[in-house]
Amino acid sequence: MSSSPTFTATIEKIIERTPETRSFFLRVVNGQKLSFLPGQFLSFLLPISGQTLTRAYTIASVPEEEGCFEICLNQVRGGPGSAYLFSLKETDLLCFTGPWGTFVLDQPLDTEYIFIADRVGVVPFRPMIARLLTTKGPHPARLLYAAPQARDVLYAAEWQKWECQRARFSFRPLTDQCEPEKYSIERVLLPYIEQHFVKEARPRSRQFYICGIGRPVLLLRDLLRGAGYERQAVKYEKW
Ligand SMILES: Cc1cc2nc3c(=O)[nH]c(=O)nc-3n(C[C@H](O)[C@H](O)[C@H](O)COP(=O)(O)OP(=O)(O)OC[C@H]3O[C@@H](n4cnc5c(N)ncnc54)[C@H](O)[C@@H]3O)c2cc1C
Repeated sequence: MSSSPTFTATIEKIIERTPETRSFFLRVVNGQKLSFLPGQFLSFLLPISGQTLTRAYTIASVPEEEGCFEICLNQVRGGPGSAYLFSLKETDLLCFTGPWGTFVLDQPLDTEYIFIADRVGVVPFRPMIARLLTTKGPHPARLLYAAPQARDVLYAAEWQKWECQRARFSFRPLTDQCEPEKYSIERVLLPYIEQHFVKEARPRSRQFYICGIGRPVLLLRDLLRGAGYERQAVKYEKW
């Protein structure tokens, strides 16, 4: 990362999206507007036990929104960064650098977009899909969203609203019907991807974006690239 100024933001609002997931609505203190691309993240500098830990959080809101911007995160068992953020309250301050990252929506291509999300990994897709749906052209977009249970599907009402309003967007929640500890992306997502995008006949002309937690993201990437999709057609971000 190259150097970037450090921003300070006030936490204006915190909302609980699920028992383990919260959105923080932040406003830069000097009133400066944050410029970013859909899919980019910020690096938060967290003062924990006398040290500064750096943790990345993707911007969940769209660049065009005035005022506050949103990050959305879940509490990771034993994780110092998320535990610190979950201990904060409205009016507290946070420091960050950024925006960073190249996992962004390219100039819309004349092809179908498939967004594959694992749990809170859906966050970058909210601004990306919003941007895609406001650009002219056919660009059909599908969101395949894996989560342990229906109650863990973030922004569900929004995806459903977009699906009703836009013929070119479809939303497919894939839930495991299990407790979060037993959830397995391999069980939920891999068979679906294999059936719909690997075993089917060619041509391989789609743009994939994958975002999620840990090694399964790489399994999905390799499955698609191994099936003949171009390297550039399978973009991913692993948290
Ligand atoms: C580019 C980028 C963008 C990110 N954006 C977000 C975001 O928008 N929202 C968000 O919740 N997290 C996001 N993360 C993850 C975040 O930076 C932290 O890793 C996460 O909050 C855990 O930090 P921690 O200190 O609590 O736990 P740590 O002790 O650092 O635990 C890290 C372990 O938890 C796993 N992990 C990382 N993220 C999660 C998660 N969300 N749920 C469960 N396990 C996880 C990691 O694979 C690793 O094994 C992002 C990471 C990257 C690299």
